[in-house]
Amino acid sequence: MAIISKNKKAPWRYGRTQIRYAVTYIFITFTVLAFLNIYCSSTCKRLFRDNKEAAMLDKTGLAAEELRKLEALTPADVSATLERISSLRSVHIVVTDVDGTVIFASHDSTLPGQTLTWPQITQALNGIDAFDWDYDSGIMHSQAASPIIDGWRLRGCVYASETDSGQGALVASIQRTILTVTILLELVVILFSGLFTHFFSARLDKIMASMRILRDGNYTHRLELSGHDELTVLADEFNDLTERLNISENKRRQFVSDASHELKTPLASIKLLSDSILQNDMDIDTIREFVADIGDEAERLNRMSEKLLSLTKGEPDSAIEPPSIIPMTPTVERVVRMLSHLAKSGDVDIHTDLQQDCPILIREDDLYQITYNLAENGIKYNVPGGKLTIALGRGEDCGILTVSDTGTGIPEDSLSHIFERFYRVDKARSRASGGSGLGLAIVKNMVERNQGTIQVTSTFGMGTTFTMEFPAFDIEEEDE
Ligand code: ATP
Ligand code: MG
Repeated sequence: MAIISKNKKAPWRYGRTQIRYAVTYIFITFTVLAFLNIYCSSTCKRLFRDNKEAAMLDKTGLAAEELRKLEALTPADVSATLERISSLRSVHIVVTDVDGTVIFASHDSTLPGQTLTWPQITQALNGIDAFDWDYDSGIMHSQAASPIIDGWRLRGCVYASETDSGQGALVASIQRTILTVTILLELVVILFSGLFTHFFSARLDKIMASMRILRDGNYTHRLELSGHDELTVLADEFNDLTERLNISENKRRQFVSDASHELKTPLASIKLLSDSILQNDMDIDTIREFVADIGDEAERLNRMSEKLLSLTKGEPDSAIEPPSIIPMTPTVERVVRMLSHLAKSGDVDIHTDLQQDCPILIREDDLYQITYNLAENGIKYNVPGGKLTIALGRGEDCGILTVSDTGTGIPEDSLSHIFERFYRVDKARSRASGGSGLGLAIVKNMVERNQGTIQVTSTFGMGTTFTMEFPAFDIEEEDE
């Protein structure tokens, strides 16, 4: 069934993220560069202006100083005085009297006699140096005026103006250079932000693709991301998460398959016992015995479902019942009773040798399941007329349970695999007998969790023997 995720986003959304990042970078750098551009060119203009102001006021100041020395400001004396000052040759000079009436004008013969109210002249006639500047399309026009003061007496003012295209062109070229550098820098920023966001979003795409793979249930997928940044840390976290998911998914699968395998046994026994009661003529005592067995199996089923319920609630400790010291005989006898019908239908003889029984510390349900699985195998993988023997023995400090048969045996190269989950020697036959390849894996697990050991010996075509040892427990010793 296809899973449709509500949060699934169309790929173009990632494209938009990429564009958003790029536009943000470009906007930020554009703002910074524009600011730098404006700042640089205005600073440059200001420097030129300050420079010009100092130079112009130097000139008008010098002229005013020279004119102050004259007895009277007559056009001839003024002209002669100013002609001696070489630095004034590049500028237009106007000299006025204290009322603003022009006495001398170096480049405009219509001005003398006129009364001027130019702001610079007005300011200079108030006794303060004046300077004004304007810059347009590479042409710099500057005007300055200085008062002619003789002691405390104001005698007039000197006004100078200059139109400078050389320095103006320099300012314009500096501004052009700054603008070109700004545009080039912005282009580099656009290129790099495009590359960076492409690289960044390619890595994001990789993460998204891995997430989709994970969402589709592939927990073995690993995300490979180059680099040493937060995204690499994210990739490591992602891999850690998938690893955990993989482990818990495997555990879940194992849990579900083991649980269904374990539940199968009591259900099959109940069916078998009730069929036997219905199909055979039995005396009342045997029927009672069978019904009691059905009750035992139902109880076992109940315990199992309670155990499963606690495990699914995440309470593993309460799920596992504590082991107790029990003799093995009653459990073995119960298994034999349960399997007698199957043995009869397979024409297999069940023999028991229970003389050497000794109490062991074990969970009774585990002992039952172990014996049942091994004995069932001994019948299933047997030959008509074959034999299954369950024997109890006593070792130095252990109780021994042996389940051996005269069946098909297991080929030598398969012996090391038979405790693996889902491993079956003869697949066709095992499938025909309804096997899932889990029985022995569950047996091994149960033996080990009860501190026991299990060994198998087999001769192909002759038969198989499973030998288990559990720590023995002396009940009398325990009582003392
Ligand atoms: P199930 O999960 O129902 O027990 P199964 O019997 O196939 O299925 P196991 O009990 O784990 O699975 O056994 C694994 C395989 O080992 C069997 O398929 C069988 O090929 C082989 N095997 C187990 N016991 C014997 C035996 N006593 N004699 C011969 N082969 C055996
Ligand atoms: Mg089996």
